[in-house]
Amino acid sequence: MSIHENRTVNCPKCQQEQNIHVWSSINATLNPEGRNRLFDGQINRFTCGKCGYESLIPLPLLYHDPQRQIAAHYFPPESMKKAEFLDQFDSQGKFLVTGEVDFEVPEHLLDIHVVFDMNELIRYILFREMLIEFHQQNSTSADPSLN
Ligand SMILES: [Zn+2]
Repeated sequence: MSIHENRTVNCPKCQQEQNIHVWSSINATLNPEGRNRLFDGQINRFTCGKCGYESLIPLPLLYHDPQRQIAAHYFPPESMKKAEFLDQFDSQGKFLVTGEVDFEVPEHLLDIHVVFDMNELIRYILFREMLIEFHQQNSTSADPSLN
């Protein structure tokens, strides 16, 4: 499922307190609107209602699309400085889904692509979607000249 909630933050520039809507997870199969918002740059974006200051809210974001078997995770680059963060990966960079979850982890979530840039997250999702489309077209193509 998609996980999002309202939070109160202070503008880093003018300290004005305001409510923002933050997402920690987007399920694109159940919530295509969440995908659209991500592609429009509307996810975890802070715009101050008082001074107009804009920035990305540095929060981890899991994107998954069970139907297309895509799973990608954005982490703020600062995360790398923390041992708790590094502890979630093996030395090959593989994200370790720990025993903390008590449900059966779907296979596509066992191979999570990790990125440290929101634009890269979007590009990677596009890449995976294009691959799916490309292979579908090729496998259904009846025209031998295309092979
Ligand atoms: Zn402000």
